[in-house]
Amino acid sequence: MIRGLIFDLDNTLVDSGLDFDAMRREMGLPAGLAILEAIDRLPRAEAGRCREILHRRELEGAARATLLPGAAELLADLRRRGLHLAIATRNSKQVTEATLERLGIEVELVLTRDCGPIKPDPWPVLHACQCWGVQPGEVAVVGDYRFDIECGRAAGAKTVLLTHDASPHEHPNREGADLVLSSLADYPRLLAWVAEQ
Ligand SMILES: [Mg+2]
Repeated sequence: MIRGLIFDLDNTLVDSGLDFDAMRREMGLPAGLAILEAIDRLPRAEAGRCREILHRRELEGAARATLLPGAAELLADLRRRGLHLAIATRNSKQVTEATLERLGIEVELVLTRDCGPIKPDPWPVLHACQCWGVQPGEVAVVGDYRFDIECGRAAGAKTVLLTHDASPHEHPNREGADLVLSSLADYPRLLAWVAEQ
């Protein structure tokens, strides 16, 4: 039985128009690297410059973010069913709170990179389970990136991958997710799956 859901934010619930490839180019980082981890490995001055670029671009994203189709309806329905809801994001607390407030998204628990270890570490899921008094197997992680699914699987949670328009090679073996949807516009399928677990 699913008693709680933990959602990724960017490109799952909201579209912030963040272009990570453009960010890496501006920072001088190689394509494909995970940005936060790459910044942590830079010399201090260089890391500071990159964090400023990241912060500026994330704030710009928060200011233009829009809810993705299905997100509001899904959250409202899950809330009516009495399920616990959390957001776990690699974004910062400031930017996340600005985005949620602007779009009127309310969930019980918001875990950002300022709270603890970030995805793909299982910490956000384990922490949410602890807060809710539920087992990891009783929650589902919903996200659009392999880190979301890796985080959920490492915690022992169920996982839902949103593929959007990604080509199949972007998600080898669908990352091992328990359910794959193209987007939250398909939320009735997600609700049916939640009810079946
Ligand atoms: Mg995402």
